[in-house]
Amino acid sequence: MEALATPEMIAKYEPVIGLEVHVQLATNTKIFCGCPTGFGAAPNSNVCPVCLGLPGALPVLNRQAVELAIEASLALNCTVNSKSIFARKNYFYPDLPKGYQISQFDQPLAEHGFVEVSVRGETKRIGVTRVHMEDDAGKSLHEGFKDSDRYTYVDLNRSGTPLIEIVSEPDIRTSDEAHAYLTEIKQVMQYLGVSTCDMEKGQLRCDANVSVRLKGAEKFGTKAEVKNLNSFRFLKMALDHEIARQVALLESGGRVVQETRLYDPDADETISMRSKESAHDYRYFPEPDLAPLRISEVWMARIRERMPELPASRRQRFIESYGLREYDAHVLTATRPMSEYFEAVVAASGDARAAANWVMGDLAALLKQEGKEIEDSPIAAERLGQLVKLIGEGKINGKLAKDIFPKMVETGDDPDTIMRREGLTAISDEGALGKIIDEVIAANPKQVEQYKSGKQQVIGFLVGQAMKASRGQADPATMNRMLKDKL
Ligand code: ADP
Ligand code: ZN
Ligand code: MG
Repeated sequence: MEALATPEMIAKYEPVIGLEVHVQLATNTKIFCGCPTGFGAAPNSNVCPVCLGLPGALPVLNRQAVELAIEASLALNCTVNSKSIFARKNYFYPDLPKGYQISQFDQPLAEHGFVEVSVRGETKRIGVTRVHMEDDAGKSLHEGFKDSDRYTYVDLNRSGTPLIEIVSEPDIRTSDEAHAYLTEIKQVMQYLGVSTCDMEKGQLRCDANVSVRLKGAEKFGTKAEVKNLNSFRFLKMALDHEIARQVALLESGGRVVQETRLYDPDADETISMRSKESAHDYRYFPEPDLAPLRISEVWMARIRERMPELPASRRQRFIESYGLREYDAHVLTATRPMSEYFEAVVAASGDARAAANWVMGDLAALLKQEGKEIEDSPIAAERLGQLVKLIGEGKINGKLAKDIFPKMVETGDDPDTIMRREGLTAISDEGALGKIIDEVIAANPKQVEQYKSGKQQVIGFLVGQAMKASRGQADPATMNRMLKDKL
């Protein structure tokens, strides 16, 4: 059993983290052949000589995969190289029938980018070393526990699925920053439609390189690579665990060895898998079956033109032109459908702050209750916008809006129709309000007496009575003012 690091020990060290993120590109077909990429087909049904690695089969590069990879690179602020080279990365594995992966090595698609993350109110820039394209391997499925009854099956449907690998600089210093970095990447890829990034389907995978050094030290420590981080929660847990493990090791006089470790979420620990291979172990060499990938300025410009607004600039725009708070801007840009829904509510209502409150308040609660995403919202954005507009125009008050909202879900009708049909309009006519107030004063002589003799808080009760008498159609602030005037 390893010794545990105390918080005091951990405080003496600074973690250094670099992430390698694999993103599955959202193409319909594989990177070097025409086989479909769909998930969940019968094992070994989406295969052909190319992705089975049969001798003599020739790869043909998927143009759409290249375009998605370029979009991703541009969004990560990378320089896209006008010429990049595919390379063979040789290793043996039962689910890698070619005996090599087609990747990129010394001349990758794109380099020198960055991602900005905001952690505890501070913005930090994390360097992106490179983005390169590669094909995925197949899948091994292990079954059974007893030695006499244990099988491994190989499914090659995934073989040849297009991936990009995004390698970060060792700029990350905490597990929270790592979490924020991966979140930002996921968000950007989803906005672009470059990937659906479903972690459960392996469309977003992350390996973490971790080392620790004494605070103030210049030289990096020896790193270990942690694999198998298939959720955001596990990424954070694994990093915190691995940092503590390395600190304990160093504090007890040991040394960190360069190796690949696997995170086991059940035990919350990392276990050694193998000593880390280095680049020369893979005998990289240029892929002779593929020409260098050349990307013209014209092609790049066309791709750049059709890219949507990205979350970071959308957040900034929401803050600047709608006057939203930073937190609200973050929530309302979390996904592209969310930000588009919000903007449609703003367009229909003309009031961004109120729109934000309704989307983040009542609508969010409704979605949570129904277990739905915003793209399946039972209330269309235009309808919610109309409701917000009715409040802004003084036709209904907030209380009536909250009564109309669930009726919109129930009936599917627009708020105006519900308002008229159910008589849920705000009463603004001072004559009508005055009548209600007279009735309330007449019906509650005791409270009126108390108020007049200085018991100010009784006004709340009287306003409540007046609201009740108006069936919620009066504005409480107006009622309060008129009651005080009368008394
Ligand atoms: P390797 O040759 O072992 O693959 P690389 O230099 O290619 O190492 O880096 C792989 C990843 O490890 C990158 O994300 C990089 O930022 C990160 N990294 C490099 N050195 C360290 C270190 N000392 N501590 C933590 N991460 C590191
Ligand atoms: Zn194929
Ligand atoms: Mg490397």
